[in-house]
Amino acid sequence: MARFGVDLLEMPPNSAWLPEYIAPRVPRSPFFFTCEHASNKLPDEFHLDAADQHWLDTHWAWDPGAALVTRALASTYGCGAVLARCTRLVCDVNRKIDGPGFMREEVEGFALPFNAALDDDERQRRIQRYYLPYHRTLHDRLQDRLGEGDDPLLLAIHSFTPSMMGQKRPMEVAVVFDEQCPERAAAMIRGFENRGVRVGVNEPYSGIKGQMYSAWYHGRGTGVDYLELEIRQDFFESSAKAKSITAIVSEVLREI
Ligand SMILES: [Zn+2]
Repeated sequence: MARFGVDLLEMPPNSAWLPEYIAPRVPRSPFFFTCEHASNKLPDEFHLDAADQHWLDTHWAWDPGAALVTRALASTYGCGAVLARCTRLVCDVNRKIDGPGFMREEVEGFALPFNAALDDDERQRRIQRYYLPYHRTLHDRLQDRLGEGDDPLLLAIHSFTPSMMGQKRPMEVAVVFDEQCPERAAAMIRGFENRGVRVGVNEPYSGIKGQMYSAWYHGRGTGVDYLELEIRQDFFESSAKAKSITAIVSEVLREI
């Protein structure tokens, strides 16, 4: 696990920022869900003025709706799931440590005060406290499954904003994959298309361009198939729409 630049196994075992873990309820369950951007919680040690708190409600801080879908799917299929508990503004568990956006200094021109002028010690401290607990838990729980003879599809659930830099995004969901498991990606794409859902194939984010990190890292590390599913965030503006897209995703997963 040296790709992290730090040994995962050296993580302190009792971190306060372990992710939420939903244990599988059924043997041989077909999926292992992850949700890297589940939460917009800013830990108490960091500060945003009241006037700036609204940034926590934006897609810069989390993926609205993604946790809801992840929990629903875990419940429907009785599968395990790992969900982050902390905003990605502190450090993004779906980025590599030395990659762009790992600790974002600003969003839309607003300088995040708690990310200004971070030195190496602070970066390392955050990696230990917020980043490694997520990946260590995902790694260990996935290993448990493999140890029991399971071969789940590792599926990261995300959501994306309907427009970015003034550009509307026509796709309603996006299937993000690389050359490792194109067949299952194709089956998922077909499943959505058959239900009249507009699918982005590796867009707006692409597994080929290295824009899927967590699923890629743990999938490659263990040999399980891995994909990332992105859902457009306007589906979560009403509970009826959220229910409808969750039901469609659930049906599509039965076919892959
Ligand atoms: Zn995301």
